[in-house]
Amino acid sequence: MPSDAEVHHVRRLLLRWWKHNGREFWWRESRDPFTVALVEVLLKQTRASSSAAAIRAFVECYPTPAALAAAPESELLDELRPFGFQRQRASHLAQLAKQLQAEPDALSARNQELRQLPGIGAYAAAAIGVFAHGRRETVIDVNVVRVFRRLWGLSVPRGELRKSALIREVGEMYAGTTKPREANWALLDLGAEICKERQPRCPICPLLSSCQFGQRLAATSKLARKR
Ligand code: SF4
Repeated sequence: MPSDAEVHHVRRLLLRWWKHNGREFWWRESRDPFTVALVEVLLKQTRASSSAAAIRAFVECYPTPAALAAAPESELLDELRPFGFQRQRASHLAQLAKQLQAEPDALSARNQELRQLPGIGAYAAAAIGVFAHGRRETVIDVNVVRVFRRLWGLSVPRGELRKSALIREVGEMYAGTTKPREANWALLDLGAEICKERQPRCPICPLLSSCQFGQRLAATSKLARKR
């Protein structure tokens, strides 16, 4: 388990790296809770980099809960074609739109209540909290879990991953910043671009000096070169 100081140090390194290496997505400009919620529902099981244009088209087509609620099911299914899982997404979005019409402030609720909304799981609830409302939370996806595990050698059973109390605790420590949006984007971008699952790019990673996995890998390849 890392100390507060270690987490703080990693976050500082990440923020510095992200300033010049972060990914740019149009939705990162938006603080509108409905836009953030739509984007998160569409991003589920989708690659952000290849879906950005399709997500923009969808959000422009349904900019409000009323517009989304008024969409006929067949039209919605058609518009959701680029993202896959159309039926499930269409059903969640239609239910979400209806609920937001009845409760316009529902997307301003706290994390626990956000999770009760249709199509909004733990990840999307945290994303709405951080990116729309600037709350101090950490969005935890599989990439983030991987980064935390590698950095501090955390042992988390395969079945738990995002649900792990240990990961959540580290996430809470990581969230202690005045720049929650940037800190989360930095973590997500590092997980997607540098700390890849199969071939982590440790030699160019800004966290190498603080990373247990990266240090072990560097020592092993040094040893192999000597032989
Ligand atoms: Fe991931 Fe390697 Fe960076 Fe560690 S040093 S965070 S394993 S890319």
